[in-house]
Amino acid sequence: MSTPAYVFAPPAVTAVPVDGGGSFPVHRVYCVGRNYADHAVEMGFSGREPPFFFLKPADTAVPVAEGQTGEIAYPSLTSNLHHEVELVVAIGIGGSHIAAAHAAGHIFGYAVGLDMTRRDLQGEMKKQGRPWCIGKAFEQSAPIGPIRRLAQTGELLAGSISLAVNGTVRQQGDLKDLIWSVNETIEQLSIAWTLQPGDLIYTGTPAGVGAVVKGDVLEARVAGLGPLRVAVR
Ligand code: MN
Repeated sequence: MSTPAYVFAPPAVTAVPVDGGGSFPVHRVYCVGRNYADHAVEMGFSGREPPFFFLKPADTAVPVAEGQTGEIAYPSLTSNLHHEVELVVAIGIGGSHIAAAHAAGHIFGYAVGLDMTRRDLQGEMKKQGRPWCIGKAFEQSAPIGPIRRLAQTGELLAGSISLAVNGTVRQQGDLKDLIWSVNETIEQLSIAWTLQPGDLIYTGTPAGVGAVVKGDVLEARVAGLGPLRVAVR
C-alpha cells in the first residue's frame, strides 16, 4: 500500500554548510547547560553538578555560510536577549550508550554556535520550576557557522572560545575548561537519547554572557574553526 499523499508540503530540512562542500542535514539540536565552571558561578551555581540537557527544534538553527553575516530578528516577549558562544559538535554516526572512549568515532565535525537565550523568560521559568522552552527554544535561537570535518580539525580538546559584540570582547574561555568534555557529553547524552546522524550538540558557554540589542553584530570564534558573524535586526 502506498503512503497517502501529504496534506501539505512537508517542512524543509535545515542544513548547515560543510567546509569543502556539501551540507549537513539537521536532525535534533541538543544543548548542555552550565558546562564551564565560571559561567555556572555567574548563574549562581557551584559548577559541580552532573550534566543536564535541553533541546531546541531543528528549525531554530540559523546556518551562516563562510564569510557571510547572518541575521536574526530580535525575538518577541523579551527585553534581555543574551548571547552564549558555544562549540557545536555535529554527529555523523548515531548510537546509544556510546562510551566516552569511543565518542570521537561518532563525530562528523565541529562548528561555532550561539545559544541565544531570552534570559528574563528563562529566569522566570526557573523560579517557577517550569520548562525552559520559552527562554531557549524560540525561532532563530541557534545560529551556527559552517561545519568543519573532524578529519580536518582533529579532536578539539583545547583552544580559545570567544565572543565579541560590535568588536568588544564579552566572552573569552578555553575548551579545556569544559566541565563535561565533548566525549563525556556524548556518553551521557547517548544514555538518555539515541543519537542520530544530523544531531547537533551545543556544548555550553564560558562566562561573560550578556544582553544584545537591535543593530548589534556578534562575532563568535573557536580556535580551528571559521568565525560566525550574526547581526541582530
Ligand atoms: Mn548554552
